[in-house]
Amino acid sequence: MSMEMKRVAVVTGGGRGIGRAVCLALAAKGFDLCVNYSGNAEAAAETVRLCGELGVKAVAVQADVSTAEGAEALVEAAGAEFGRVDVLVNNAGVTRDGLLVRMSEEDFDKVVDTNLKGAFLCCKAVARRMMRQRYGRIINLSSVVGLRGNAGQANYAASKAGLIGLTKSLAKELATRNVTVNAVAPGFITTDMTNAMPEAARTATLNTIPAGRAGLPEEVAHAVTFLAAEESAYITGQVLSVDGGMAM
Ligand code: NDP
Repeated sequence: MSMEMKRVAVVTGGGRGIGRAVCLALAAKGFDLCVNYSGNAEAAAETVRLCGELGVKAVAVQADVSTAEGAEALVEAAGAEFGRVDVLVNNAGVTRDGLLVRMSEEDFDKVVDTNLKGAFLCCKAVARRMMRQRYGRIINLSSVVGLRGNAGQANYAASKAGLIGLTKSLAKELATRNVTVNAVAPGFITTDMTNAMPEAARTATLNTIPAGRAGLPEEVAHAVTFLAAEESAYITGQVLSVDGGMAM
């Protein structure tokens, strides 16, 4: 890839939380951005505006990544707008917490369909394009919970552990094409997702963090931009924890 070529990133769930921080960190590195969202158009529009302030082109694209139509439409929209896709960040994620004995099949499916199948569908939608380009960086947002498990999050932990298997398998399939596939495993990061946790659960989790504090979305975004860099070409199939020491 020549130095002048404008690089393009697609970030699922880029409207808020970690996704927004990832968009802004990539924008600061000069990437044009396709900011995906599912329901919160206002948050996505704000992310687009903030990217614009950093001097790059950004568009918001509504799509439900848990459906094949949504994932394909998202990648097609990015291709139509920018002509290429260099980076895919599978960040969209949901929780439906509860103990397994009380967990509905619906809550299991919702979480796995969004977090794991959504990433599979987006990878599938973008893989041929990246192979043709002989260039690509795919980064999947896993979690400390995918590495260690968590009572009350069997569905979420399964989806996040599954993402690691997906990451390593696809890394092996795409390695010769200069397409890397890696995962980032955040610990406890301050976003809407963790703000929604009951106070007692938040305090209990905070007490397990060696660093003694929650992480910031920007700290996760830093790891994503590192893996998204052209210079990270020889790093593939890895899981990079950003968790203040939780998963040691
Ligand atoms: P938030 O709950 O703050 O944001 C979730 C994002 O996912 C939103 O942008 C939302 O879009 C989007 N989304 C949800 N469902 C879909 C869908 N079907 N299609 C497209 N987009 C969708 O989450 P966080 O920022 O906290 O988390 C981001 C990622 O990081 C997730 O994968 C999460 O599991 C992971 N993570 C987070 C940790 C944390 O402590 N916060 C720790 C470890 C991992 P919209 O705005 O339109 O609703």
